Amino acid sequence: MKITVLGSSHGVPEPNRKCTSFMLEIGENVYFVDMGTNPVDALRKRGMEIDRVKGVFVTHMHGDHTNGLVPFTDLITWYFKTPDPLICLPMPEAAKVLQDWMDVTLNGNQQKLRYREVTPGVIFDDGILKVTAIATQHCKKSFSYIAEAEGKTVLFTGDLKHPAVDFPAPAMERELDLVICEGAHFSPAEYLPVFEKCRMKKVCMTHYQNKFIPGILEVQNAMAEKHIPALMATDDLEILV
Ligand SMILES: [Zn+2]
Ligand SMILES: [Zn+2]
Repeated sequence: MKITVLGSSHGVPEPNRKCTSFMLEIGENVYFVDMGTNPVDALRKRGMEIDRVKGVFVTHMHGDHTNGLVPFTDLITWYFKTPDPLICLPMPEAAKVLQDWMDVTLNGNQQKLRYREVTPGVIFDDGILKVTAIATQHCKKSFSYIAEAEGKTVLFTGDLKHPAVDFPAPAMERELDLVICEGAHFSPAEYLPVFEKCRMKKVCMTHYQNKFIPGILEVQNAMAEKHIPALMATDDLEILV
């Protein structure tokens, strides 16, 4: 699978970094984990058909993870009418908000979209990608996701309260090919004690505040001793898993 970091910034965009979104390409299928930036621009820029999108998995409803949902759902309800992704939202009320927006901006002949409420456990399995949600304590309803495809396993932490509090325990019980961690709410160096308990092949720090970049360098140094690559995400970074 190929994971493209479409936005690596924290709660607010930086001049050179958009808000959080990851695009997963598995064969012909495309999926998104979070949509904090406009995914249609990203797809069109790459010459990719929008009907390749089969699933959207939102970790929580904060705008830096969801602000791309309006342009995405808007365009696939009236212009690009063939995509039929399952859109997984921690708060199902948001589906009504999106539908209400469409009702205001369009004339009622738009297609209905498929939504699912995120609850702990397996939320998606189309035989190509399986996504398991694990509750976190960042806000009222927030989740980490374990994505499994092509025999590989990737953990997206989503936003956390603190690694010592809600780093997803099930992720420590299995081998992880890649761990994608947020770095907005604490120094990334504070992951190091939990990383000691994880079996992982690669780490990617994203969603980081610039003031925490020294903490990312600390993680890179500590991981280098274990021969585990630790990437600092930038927009458009592509990671092959
Ligand atoms: Zn965030
Ligand atoms: Zn948040």
